[in-house]
Amino acid sequence: MDPKYRAAIGGRVIKYKLETIPVWDALQENNECLLCTLMEKAENRYIDYYLGSSVMNPETRVQVNTTGFCHTHYQVLTKAVKPQALGLIANTHLQETSRQLEPEIQRLKKAGSAKKARTSISKIAQLLKARETGCLICSSMDTAFNRYAYTLAYLWGSDQEFRAAYAKTRGICLHHFPLLMDIAEKALQKQTLLDFYQNITEQMEKHLSAALEEVHWMTQMFKSENRDKDWRGCQDAHERAIHLETGRGRRKQEV
Ligand SMILES: [Zn+2]
Ligand SMILES: [Zn+2]
Repeated sequence: MDPKYRAAIGGRVIKYKLETIPVWDALQENNECLLCTLMEKAENRYIDYYLGSSVMNPETRVQVNTTGFCHTHYQVLTKAVKPQALGLIANTHLQETSRQLEPEIQRLKKAGSAKKARTSISKIAQLLKARETGCLICSSMDTAFNRYAYTLAYLWGSDQEFRAAYAKTRGICLHHFPLLMDIAEKALQKQTLLDFYQNITEQMEKHLSAALEEVHWMTQMFKSENRDKDWRGCQDAHERAIHLETGRGRRKQEV
């Protein structure tokens, strides 16, 4: 084991695999929220995976049938225009749904009263609602997020070069901030943890106030008296403000 890592965790059991290479790569790619950049990439990877040859793999098909995808990810999968892969997914998924529903549908057909029929309808509704919970892509993203956030905190605490490079970014988005803080507690201790809390929060505060200033200036530019003034690069400040608030790369539902 890396001796720096041992020192950082103080001999505690390792729960997260370090992902130093992708975290460094994302840091060098742009100055946006590092976790958003990593999560966007992870999401694209999982989408490609489920639309690729994995659909032929019996194990994956079982997972797809039992867990499936959330509404948003089904939409993303549809827009990727991979009819054969999505056709296979839809085929087995509907087969499984039909298998689960059929006994209750048969009972409903034979129901002699509205009350009995209502019981069957409730069971059918329950089965259908249960099929909307869970998403293979969201849960894979959640696992990847934990590893990335842990690595970010770990590198920040143990590598001065990383810390200096990180300081040049705009900092973490508001969506990822609380999640990162929770994980930092597992990666860092004492003074380093305190430094991390203070430093990352200060950076977020700066980002917030810059975004606020930019979006405010943008709104002012719609006033007729400011017609001839300079946009100061704030034409897309609303988009940047929303990205700061909600994050760009994130799972689409709770897992
Ligand atoms: Zn983010
Ligand atoms: Zn999802």
